[in-house]
Amino acid sequence: MKNISVIGAGTMGNGIAHVFAQFGYKVNLIDVSEEALKKALATIGKNLDRQVAKGSLTEADKENTLKNLTTYTDLKTGVSDAHLVVEAATENVDLKLKIFRDMDAFAPANAILSTNTSSISITRIAAQTKRPDKVIGMHFMNPVPVMKLVEVIRGYATSDEVTSAVMEMSRKLAKVPVEVNDYPGFVANKILMPMINEAIITLWQGTAGVEEIDTVMKLGMAHPMGPLQLADFIGLDVCLSILRVLQEGFGEDKYAPCPLLVNMVTAGKLGVKSGEGFYSWTHGTKDLVVADNFRKKVTA
Ligand code: NAD
Repeated sequence: MKNISVIGAGTMGNGIAHVFAQFGYKVNLIDVSEEALKKALATIGKNLDRQVAKGSLTEADKENTLKNLTTYTDLKTGVSDAHLVVEAATENVDLKLKIFRDMDAFAPANAILSTNTSSISITRIAAQTKRPDKVIGMHFMNPVPVMKLVEVIRGYATSDEVTSAVMEMSRKLAKVPVEVNDYPGFVANKILMPMINEAIITLWQGTAGVEEIDTVMKLGMAHPMGPLQLADFIGLDVCLSILRVLQEGFGEDKYAPCPLLVNMVTAGKLGVKSGEGFYSWTHGTKDLVVADNFRKKVTA
């Protein structure tokens, strides 16, 4: 597998394209937005500069990585010579189902079609295609060039050959792949999201404030960042939608999102991307400043 197409040039797509290009693969990066493609190339350039400054890449490696990248706004052309496609477009079921129908029509018949979805069933996506045995989840973590894990998710019909090929490909990118089965939330989000939800419930019940909850988890459990800060980074809308997938998928109320999370999303407080969540992010992401709403003492 030498030719990789990455669909979606946002936060995850640009990181995925960066890593494949850095390891010598020819990458077609596809997005419906010309603006997103421009921004992605600029971000990849900046991240490569950082790697060169740290000494982990040479200037020549950087130039070769950039040479391996070509951008497209047209899906049909962008996937026409793909051996592997990694779909990382917006997390929206209808959009992803359509992209997979289109990919199935336009990508070579033997190409593997993978998705970076955080929560949508691989089996459901695969059912849109005539090659469900060649559809698989490749769940990279953010930021992709830094994070080692790839959750490799087998749909109901994914073949052993395709799973092995994707596991091997992930290792070639210096990642550590972990094979998991296709149930709601897979492994990462099935465990992470209830923890984030429980932190929000703890805040809502008035047991402790934002900084106190995050400090307990950072210092007590050796987590690099607290669950409320992490929720702000992931996006509170994303957390809410994954909790709903878990609640509906397992039919269990233990996954029911905290009413405070629902209120914050309804009010447009989505975390870093909207400038405010549990913390205020209008001054950038370096300093932790608790959002005004949570500075008052929370009482039960
Ligand atoms: P994003 O919003 O940053 O980027 C999505 C990109 O998809 C945008 O540039 C948009 O223009 C493009 N797009 C929309 N429709 C398209 C189409 N029809 N064809 C091509 N491009 C299209 O989103 P993101 O955070 O990069 O998330 C992408 C995927 O990765 C989602 O499935 C998400 O669940 C998953 N994911 C995200 C994270 C994270 O931390 N952000 C982590 C793991 C997985």
